[in-house]
Amino acid sequence: MIRTDGNNIKNDIREALLASGAAAIGFARAEQVEADVIEGYNRWIRNGNHAGMDYLERHARLKPDPSNVLENVSTVISMAFSYTPAQRRNPELPAIACYAYGEDYHDVLRKRIMPIVECLKKDLGGEWRICIDSAPLSERYWAIKCGIGTRGRNGSVIVDNFGSYIFLVEVLTTLRIAPDEPRKDICMDCGACIKACPQGALMADGTVDARKCINYLTIEHRGEWEGENSRTMHTEAAKNSLFGCDICQEVCPHNRNIPPTNIPEFQPKEELLSLTAEQAIKMSREEFSKIFKGSPVKRAKFEGFRRNALNLAKD
Ligand code: SF4
Ligand code: SF4
Repeated sequence: MIRTDGNNIKNDIREALLASGAAAIGFARAEQVEADVIEGYNRWIRNGNHAGMDYLERHARLKPDPSNVLENVSTVISMAFSYTPAQRRNPELPAIACYAYGEDYHDVLRKRIMPIVECLKKDLGGEWRICIDSAPLSERYWAIKCGIGTRGRNGSVIVDNFGSYIFLVEVLTTLRIAPDEPRKDICMDCGACIKACPQGALMADGTVDARKCINYLTIEHRGEWEGENSRTMHTEAAKNSLFGCDICQEVCPHNRNIPPTNIPEFQPKEELLSLTAEQAIKMSREEFSKIFKGSPVKRAKFEGFRRNALNLAKD
């Protein structure tokens, strides 16, 4: 039951949603996305920076208007969840991106948010929709608009006191709720992320060229790397990646001295923390299914994981 005195529905909704474990929550009017943002996104797509992620091209037409996601939507609620692990893999082992240490965030966060949203709907009425990478929405745009963070030069959203190791979720509702103010920009423009990227994938406008990015090439890219992709995956950092890359986040001052996530499901399993290159190279399909059951690593599928593992051993 959501208790509300009718005067402060916004605080009641915020309090209710915070119980899901969110680090930050903000509200924005569900208006059309600003024209220059859409133009920037379309230009990014036109220049081929989305690499093989064709769904981004298909979604481009729908992204400007959140009512394509929920009819008669009035408010976008953006939520950030920290996944900062309490423990990291030994840096001498091949890299696995921290977001993949725990259980798959899509399932974890839906399970945590759904019962709260069902209560909100029952008590306050209106239509509601939870989006966890499941709808054509510009999630970073809405996070910034809702005032939960600002955009870093590494393309990530940075949340005060929690850094950029965060998952973003949007909850859309037809209820009209007063918007929050966007935050003051906290990216210090120090350029550490751009300097540290071993692939030259970070562009001057704060966007990422996925064709060069280790995250894309080890997680989203399907099939073998050929031609330019194959050459790109020959840097030392690329040959050290088993799944993803955190380099441009690791160096960001906003990710220093931040607390670990309060969500137990995002804590690493021992077998993932200790997985060696040799074990990864020898791993069978059955072992892959067992070790990574319910893990984001399954996104690469066995074939992608094996391709990454074999790259660790290349000269
Ligand atoms: S994730 Fe890695 S490769 Fe991609 S932009 Fe950041 S540092 Fe560069
Ligand atoms: S490393 Fe510096 S420039 Fe890059 S996102 Fe962090 S504060 Fe901004």
